[in-house]
Amino acid sequence: MPKFKLEYIWLDGYEPVQNLRSKTQIKEFDSFPTLEQLPLWGFDGSSTMQAEGHSSDCVLKPVAVYPDATRNHGVLVMCEVMMPDGKTPHASNHRSTILDDADAWFGFEQEYFMYQDGRPLGFPENGYPAPQGPYYTGVGFKNVGGVAREIVEEHLDLCLAAGINHEGINAEVAKGQWEFQIFGKGSRTAADQIWVARYILLRLCESYGIDIEWHCKPLGDTDWNGSGMHCNFSTKFMRETGGKDYFEKLMKQFEKNLHDHIKVYGPDNHLRLTGKHETAPWNKFSYGIADRGASIRVPHSFANNGYKGYLEDRRPNSQGCPYQIASQVLKTISEVPTA
Ligand code: ADP
Ligand code: MN
Ligand code: MN
Ligand code: MN
Repeated sequence: MPKFKLEYIWLDGYEPVQNLRSKTQIKEFDSFPTLEQLPLWGFDGSSTMQAEGHSSDCVLKPVAVYPDATRNHGVLVMCEVMMPDGKTPHASNHRSTILDDADAWFGFEQEYFMYQDGRPLGFPENGYPAPQGPYYTGVGFKNVGGVAREIVEEHLDLCLAAGINHEGINAEVAKGQWEFQIFGKGSRTAADQIWVARYILLRLCESYGIDIEWHCKPLGDTDWNGSGMHCNFSTKFMRETGGKDYFEKLMKQFEKNLHDHIKVYGPDNHLRLTGKHETAPWNKFSYGIADRGASIRVPHSFANNGYKGYLEDRRPNSQGCPYQIASQVLKTISEVPTA
């Protein structure tokens, strides 16, 4: 029987941004293990801000499994963190707060910077490169440098091999900034895959001496774009019934819950959602058809199709937790009657 390398991955208890953690367990299986075959495991929560030293055991509960193309018999195992009873979700376990809905669809657009020596990849040691303009979807050494594309291509291949549902990648507006998009059906699918794709990217970059900067405005108040993680979402009702009346009620609820949303849309978002650089001010909810300067962009297709389809919440940032984002979006939707 082959020995599989099971990489158990979880989120630690740091605030406001949780870090990815992982460790390997070797186990024999006849063939690639299913989720049901994977055992619970434990870790020392006192080292991850998840427990006190005198009672430090936390439980890892596998919730999604992906092939790991970087290792022989490699398996990536996304886990939820549970209390020692193995049944009660730990306070840091936000995945457990997402409403069950197999017909909820999410698409996240993860933007990020590659960083080396404390600055974006391709920035000179002092000062700045040529201003923004040619970098977005750009090509050529002066626009994307010599190594970034190699990394994003490798990342894409590793994610596809893992069964992660990438929908695309592109170079972004700032030099050293990139994006990938992941779409998933089911209320947790895309969020799981974003976390695993982040994990694969961070691990891949280790050997390049490059780190990923997830902060939403790493270059501060300059003319360099920040990073977002737009959240595209739809429910079965939105796709199949919808209507202008329901849409307007839904937007009212989003407006009412503004602060609950901003709270989980990533830290320091006021630095990014300023009203500049294709953003809406963080403290004022707005929506608009094809409006990239609104909190929620309503795609043309949505309005032309009798207010049916998906919507894009443009406010979540690159450092946001997709579990908390999906959880809040579905909570707000659930507060609007569909009858
Ligand atoms: P843009 O950058 O113009 O906002 P992208 O193509 O980067 O557009 O992202 C749009 C994303 O919307 C797609 O990648 C996909 O994941 C998501 N999406 C498309 N249809 C739906 C749907 N019905 N429900 C939820 N998300 C969707
Ligand atoms: Mn995009
Ligand atoms: Mn983008
Ligand atoms: Mn978008």
